[in-house]
Amino acid sequence: MKNYIKANEWQIIEEGFDPDLNEISESLFSIGNGHMGQRANFEENYSGKTLQGSYIAGVYYPDKTRVGWWKNGYPENFAKVLNAANWIGLNILIDGEQLDLAKCTVTDFKRVLNMREGYLQRTFIAELNNNNQVKINAKRFCSIVDEKAGAISYSITPLNFSGEIRISSYIDGDIVNKDSNYDEKFWDHVNSSADSNEAYLTLRTKKTLFEVCTGICTQVYQNNKPATVIYTGTAKEKYTSTTFTLSAKQAEETTIYKYAINVSSQNYQPSNLLAACKKALDDILNKGFDKMLAEQASAWQEKWDESDIIIEGDVAAQQGIRFNIFQLNQTYTGKDDRLNIGPKGFTGEKYGGSTYWDTEAYCVPFYLATAPQQVTQNLLIYRYKQLDKAIENAAKLGFNNGAALYPMVTMNGEECHNEWEITFEEIHRNGAIAYAIYNYINYTGDTAYLNDYGLEVLIGIARFWSQRVNWSESKSKFVMLGVTGPNEYENNVNNNWYTNTIACWSMDYAAEAVKQVKISNQQKYDSIVEKLSFNEIEETSYWNHVTGNMYFPEDEEKNIFLQQDGFLDKEIVTVNKLKAADRPLNQNWSWDRILRSCYIKQADVLQGLYFFSDKFDEEALKRNYEFYEPLTVHESSLSPCVHAILAARLGREDDAYNFYLRTSRLDLDDYNNDTEDGLHITSMAGTWMSVVEGFAGMRVKDGKLGFKPFLPAQWQSYSFNITFRGVLINIKVNTDGICLCNYSTQNIRINVFNENCDINASSQAFVAHKVRV
Ligand code: BGC
Repeated sequence: MKNYIKANEWQIIEEGFDPDLNEISESLFSIGNGHMGQRANFEENYSGKTLQGSYIAGVYYPDKTRVGWWKNGYPENFAKVLNAANWIGLNILIDGEQLDLAKCTVTDFKRVLNMREGYLQRTFIAELNNNNQVKINAKRFCSIVDEKAGAISYSITPLNFSGEIRISSYIDGDIVNKDSNYDEKFWDHVNSSADSNEAYLTLRTKKTLFEVCTGICTQVYQNNKPATVIYTGTAKEKYTSTTFTLSAKQAEETTIYKYAINVSSQNYQPSNLLAACKKALDDILNKGFDKMLAEQASAWQEKWDESDIIIEGDVAAQQGIRFNIFQLNQTYTGKDDRLNIGPKGFTGEKYGGSTYWDTEAYCVPFYLATAPQQVTQNLLIYRYKQLDKAIENAAKLGFNNGAALYPMVTMNGEECHNEWEITFEEIHRNGAIAYAIYNYINYTGDTAYLNDYGLEVLIGIARFWSQRVNWSESKSKFVMLGVTGPNEYENNVNNNWYTNTIACWSMDYAAEAVKQVKISNQQKYDSIVEKLSFNEIEETSYWNHVTGNMYFPEDEEKNIFLQQDGFLDKEIVTVNKLKAADRPLNQNWSWDRILRSCYIKQADVLQGLYFFSDKFDEEALKRNYEFYEPLTVHESSLSPCVHAILAARLGREDDAYNFYLRTSRLDLDDYNNDTEDGLHITSMAGTWMSVVEGFAGMRVKDGKLGFKPFLPAQWQSYSFNITFRGVLINIKVNTDGICLCNYSTQNIRINVFNENCDINASSQAFVAHKVRV
């Protein structure tokens, strides 16, 4: 755990330059706009430890699978989010010496991520070996107004000399992915050009043939006036730059503005890319840096108006939650249904492909409540469009009749994961995809989604589950063998309670959805029946037969659901008995030892109790929570939030608060010693869930919104905005109760502490209630 980020409500601040922390800071200070993003690498050259990272959403490369022992059914490729051309580079020579923070004395270093306005700033003083001292002030952002655009303002002030500064403003396309399986470079050069202060580079990905054109324009100002400099262009393979020399006077500031555009063949014909890039660059040049930044700030204000959480009385908690919300909004904006949310977003390479069950299980609730409905709908449509691939994927494993198994990890719908115990066995992901459809419709009321997209996916998923079970003569029940539940510290188990539960729920929901579509739109129903060769009576009655005769492991004596068959044969020793040196287990124990132990990586039975909380009473939740939580090591970042929500429901406010802290500052404080690889973007949505579904107890039951809040002892109040069925509502919980403010023009009825509360348009209601134990 680290503790070097300064507490601040709206900013992430690092003071002082410590090269050992640089890669962590590069992750933490990452910027993005849903379309592209980058780690907080330095603009000037840096020969110290760094992980260069610049990414363009949806542009990927299928790297040839590398495994020790090939298993039939493994995917040929592992699709990777590609490290793309680096457009921020400024190679700076001061009186002939290169500015490189690894080779000079750095003082007054400060790096700030301004989350309110959406930009990154870095200031420092560098003393070079030639004793020249310069003060640098660098600001940059990826525009959320024009998502093709990024801009940098980089100011240099000589402090103790007047001299010559030579700068090459460049685009470097000779990029490698650190996680390349065969040390291969994934980009081919297409063309490069440089003319005066503009430079362009087009690269094409191998195999997938995505083309990306990056364009930059560099301008120089001295004394707030354009400086007269001569630009010399260099254009070569995978590199292009514009170079100029300035004479800089002591104490006078020179500012370099670097404007950049990234356009790709996802949105333009390859033959038009260069022209599109030039046009987009012209547009931002006409605006200029200051106007772009002002627009950025007001666009971020709009995002904050929809999604901010305000915590009074706890700056660390406030900074933590805003950091999570900021990073989520930087990663996914929901404008394009081909995109999804990678576990590391635009902040690192780990985890390769972009889409895991994390999206449906963790991110969907966040975007549902904090963004227009279309944003979540696009996440669901992404899976709808990949249904054919999920059917192919299942067929490859031996399933038939249109059964669909969605991949564990994917970019384009094809599986990329290649560990048999996960690829073939961690099939609960299919259930989360069905659950997200339910969640979306329950929250938004958009039942038409079922007709247009949802039902086809649900039928494919139900078909899969109905084929994945088998009849056990000895149990006289259906069983599901050889699976891995969410707890990846158990593999190849039989009857994982969570998987059996979500499988049955998916089949029941699919059968119900079939009826709903048939009633609401017979024509649509008929076309789906034809398209999927769906035999309603035969198939749905078989699903009912399976779900009515499914085996669920339970222990009668303890009266708990069993994570899987035989779980209680393990030696049950709670986590608090483990030695500190053993933690985290995945870094200290052999895999064999982990598998035989009782320790749970992340919520498993409890994940089911979270999803289906309405089906189980508080006593069942309490018994299971009290049994499983003490065995859980929370070595997945997705774990604490589910526990926070359940703890809150059980009235264990301290537990809920501690779990919240663990998730909200996971990256800021580098709890798991892995922030340098990138941020845990998907679990950030879990942090939001901890507050809104945990502390505030938000639920949507039968289309009705409700709250049952408590106020953590450490906080004076908290408040947040959500949009529910077109109504923007502010919820504030303080020591006296809960205030609900309806900002919209519609009246709304909300359930508060199990009572109906009517809030008229543009008015508010206060419900006095005990909110602390
Ligand atoms: C977790 C999975 C998760 C993946 C990506 C793993 O460590 O166990 O549940 O999908 O990370 O976040």
